[in-house]
Amino acid sequence: MKIRIGHGYDVHAFGSGDHVVLAGVKIPFERGLVAHSDGDVVIHALCDALLGAAGLGDIGGVFPDDDPKHAGQDSTEFLATVLERLAARKLAPGNADVTVIAQAPKLSAHIPAMRVGLARYLRLPEHSVNIKATTHEGLGALGRAEGIAAHAVVLLHESDEGE
Ligand code: MG
Repeated sequence: MKIRIGHGYDVHAFGSGDHVVLAGVKIPFERGLVAHSDGDVVIHALCDALLGAAGLGDIGGVFPDDDPKHAGQDSTEFLATVLERLAARKLAPGNADVTVIAQAPKLSAHIPAMRVGLARYLRLPEHSVNIKATTHEGLGALGRAEGIAAHAVVLLHESDEGE
């Protein structure tokens, strides 16, 4: 079995709102993330990692942010489409590791639900999906809580079946 690795990064700035969506989980907060879709930086970073591992470009190329049909879109639908494209190439996620950089809101209480959700979307056992959260130690824009960023690394398994 061949393996492929990919990395993804995303960041969105805070704007008005009363919640953020991270890994498909709605988290109450005094601000929201400004985005064409729901601003789920975790799912966006993960999609980019998956597309990167597959050699399929990036999320902006697959889902243009000037396309009105993606306005306010649930990003888990992006992830489902990305996974379908991978499956068509006999590629499936092996494991995923995500780091969320958020000065606020505090995420520790939400990590278990985010992890369970991502494992379900990726059709992986929970121990194959990891989510970590860190602050930015007050440094720079992220440290001033002007937005949230996420890094994702995934491994893809490439099936040789039928080749
Ligand atoms: Mg994004």
